[in-house]
Amino acid sequence: MRIDNDPKLDFDDVLIRPKRSEAPSRASVDLKRQYRFLNSDAVWSGVPIVASNMDTVGTLAMAEALGPEMLTCLHKYYSEDQLIRFFRDEARCSSAFFTLGLKDDEFDKLRAVKAKADVRLVCIDAANGYTKYFVEHVKRIRGAFPELTIMAGNVATPDMVQELFISGAADIVKIGIGPGSVCTTRRTTGVGYPQLSAIIECADAAHGLRGHVCADGGCRFPGDVVKAFAAGADFVMLGGMLAGHDECEGEWVEEDGRRVALTFYGMSSREALDKYAGGRKDYRACEGRAVSVPYKGPVKETIQEITGGIRSACAYVGATRLKDLTKCTTFVICQRPHGSMFA
Ligand code: 5GP
Repeated sequence: MRIDNDPKLDFDDVLIRPKRSEAPSRASVDLKRQYRFLNSDAVWSGVPIVASNMDTVGTLAMAEALGPEMLTCLHKYYSEDQLIRFFRDEARCSSAFFTLGLKDDEFDKLRAVKAKADVRLVCIDAANGYTKYFVEHVKRIRGAFPELTIMAGNVATPDMVQELFISGAADIVKIGIGPGSVCTTRRTTGVGYPQLSAIIECADAAHGLRGHVCADGGCRFPGDVVKAFAAGADFVMLGGMLAGHDECEGEWVEEDGRRVALTFYGMSSREALDKYAGGRKDYRACEGRAVSVPYKGPVKETIQEITGGIRSACAYVGATRLKDLTKCTTFVICQRPHGSMFA
């Protein structure tokens, strides 16, 4: 056993120091990024915010609302026909990911949809991206479809980021073990890595190889999304912050015929396992939980809070483009990141 004594940081452990700046107003901050991906060689441009592939959030309606500028990882429970219809639209295939896990029938579904529609972005999602099987699976999908842009994860350390780019031939590696709002991995297993440090360390490893990273999990406020980008994330994926909107699917609580709350649950929660896996297997524990999220109206409102927060942060540190945020950022360690008098 070893103890790593270097301090590791989470979003709440830091703030971004404001700086004197001659940057023009926040309105003119450019949030668009353009990336050329390492293995697919495809070029993508847009605002690099991604809706998570959780079944309540990664919906067709979410993709419609966020696209074409922002991205959505569609959840993997849509039928082949639904996905074929969706991906036949030119605009959608550059802003929506087809998601699959480790199962053969999911790979078969990708083949079938790809044969009839234009899938360009794929998210290969596993709770634990550290297994040899996972890396081989990513490599197999790369071998079958060399032109696909592949996002794969999750991991939280540079060794595995490099492994996924080099052996797995991924284009984007998804970062986050245990930070999610409805994730209980840290409580159940004791395993995890503070998310801000994970992003800093993994982005560094990825950028050294010309790869990209997507920070996944733990953003509760627009300021956390800013911190994730400032730490070096090329993309930021959101679950809980996008839950509770008109575009979400799932069980709504209604009062007098009006939506008041959505049941939002982790994809490894008992609720999800009952729904999709015929219950919890006798060898495993749940690593997610269910919560009730208040109804929040159209997702556009929340997106504006997030993009407004990023613009304002860029103005505070003198970055005229989101691209410059990392190099304009000095994080300061703090004990009290938010006022809490009325919380
Ligand atoms: P959030 O933005 O809500 O903080 O985090 C969203 C992320 O949490 C998802 O994109 C996914 O990576 C992760 N996640 C979703 N469901 C579960 C779960 O049941 N268990 C764990 N460990 N992680 C989950």
